[in-house]
Amino acid sequence: MQLSLSRHEKSVINEWRKFGVLRDIENHCLDQANGAILITCSDADQFAEVFQHQCGMQTVHRPHPRIHVFGWHGGPLACAPCSPVNKRKHAHSVFLDQISDARALKDIHAVASRAHAPCGAARMNHIEIEQEMALHMRAKQQIKTLNQGIVVAPFFDVDYGDGRKRTYFVSRESWEAWAEQNGIPSIA
Ligand SMILES: [Zn+2]
Repeated sequence: MQLSLSRHEKSVINEWRKFGVLRDIENHCLDQANGAILITCSDADQFAEVFQHQCGMQTVHRPHPRIHVFGWHGGPLACAPCSPVNKRKHAHSVFLDQISDARALKDIHAVASRAHAPCGAARMNHIEIEQEMALHMRAKQQIKTLNQGIVVAPFFDVDYGDGRKRTYFVSRESWEAWAEQNGIPSIA
């Protein structure tokens, strides 16, 4: 089933764009010279484009794409402790272990962490878009804490539903400022 953005999600995404939470991507921002660990939602209607886009981002860094992929329902949302997308309380630790192992196995120290909207896994678990972003940021923090020196770049893929799909970089600073202004937790 193809999902569409709710009116609320559209308006929040609009605000995030205006506020600078969601920014246009500059390919050089995440150094992917040795490849990237990609954390993405498994979503069958989005994955091919997500993967192609990730390959495209690497063209400025290396001759061939080198992507170590983890596709889970909700993508990075599954890496946040006690995340509502996981049926088992400690499932996040399995995902986090896999990321650490990938780093050791492949000598890749750049993580592209991509959440998206509309996300079926988020909907299924009644996660509003604001909480989704808070979980996304929590996952980033958790991955960084467990893997010293690793670089985690958070992205947000939006399917506007009119054939328009866009990928944005998430500014943590702007997100925190927006969350504070709106009285909601910036991290879940
Ligand atoms: Zn999803």
